[in-house]
Amino acid sequence: MTHSRYMIFGDPVTHSRSPLMHNYAFRGLGIDACYGRWKLADGHRLRETFFALGIKGANITVPHKEAAFAACDVLDPFAKKVGAVNTLVEREGKLYGYNTDAPGFLRAIQELKGKKVLFLGAGGTAQSTAVILKEAGYNVTILNRSAGRLEKFRDEGFATATFETFTPEHYDLIVNMTSAGLEDESLPAPQPILEAVIPEARACIDVIYGKETPFLRLARTHAKPTKDGSDMLLYQGIIAFEHFTDHAFSFDEIRPHMQKAFDFN
Ligand code: NDP
Repeated sequence: MTHSRYMIFGDPVTHSRSPLMHNYAFRGLGIDACYGRWKLADGHRLRETFFALGIKGANITVPHKEAAFAACDVLDPFAKKVGAVNTLVEREGKLYGYNTDAPGFLRAIQELKGKKVLFLGAGGTAQSTAVILKEAGYNVTILNRSAGRLEKFRDEGFATATFETFTPEHYDLIVNMTSAGLEDESLPAPQPILEAVIPEARACIDVIYGKETPFLRLARTHAKPTKDGSDMLLYQGIIAFEHFTDHAFSFDEIRPHMQKAFDFN
């Protein structure tokens, strides 16, 4: 096998842990390949940049997952359904697109008990993960700050509410799917709403990783088990790596190598 190169595209991209994750896996599994990062301002230039760099595969982060979807020649059925691609693989001059964020989240959440889930947030990540959870038999309710993004969820059969229309129920799992707490100290929903649902929940989950968000801090004051977005990040990376290597390695073979990227926390 010749030396292959891979890349993560995004803007910003300096914070991404993907190069470390994939380079550990390539080295640990004896594959002659390397993985770098590329700041891409204009998502319309993704396809030409991919081919100009002569790379074999890529991951795509904010804000280009829809642009990556549009850049593909062949789409995996799930990526096609949710309209967002975070993994590209080049095969015989064609770009194949996959979404591994949602399967990564599903795998992370399966380690917890309970099927009734409340999502706080209705952005792109919430959309793809809600669909995969529903397909896996979860009952997902979407609670969002504003009404605009909820229409699409309602069309797909999800129960939805804004902060004004929400009636609290029992939920097994409460998930922060927003960016609230990422670069500020805000909660994803008004505190009285959170205080009404957290005490009933089995666990609280955040898709944000690398810090304890105000949401997870609040959950801990109620003595709830918490989980940040590190496993989701790790698992989406492992599933992307499976695609990069055409499934030559299993999830469990890749995991210990990629896990090393998280050992410095
Ligand atoms: P989007 O920009 O698509 O969606 C943002 C959502 O968050 C909207 O529903 C928005 O509400 C809501 N929101 C933003 N700020 C606030 C706030 N202060 N209070 C309440 N609601 C707020 O984001 P993405 O779906 O792309 O990403 C969401 C999060 O997921 C990010 O934090 C990202 O880092 C994380 N992520 C983690 C991954 C991992 O591997 N761990 C993978 C992918 C994403 P409104 O509609 O009212 O504007």
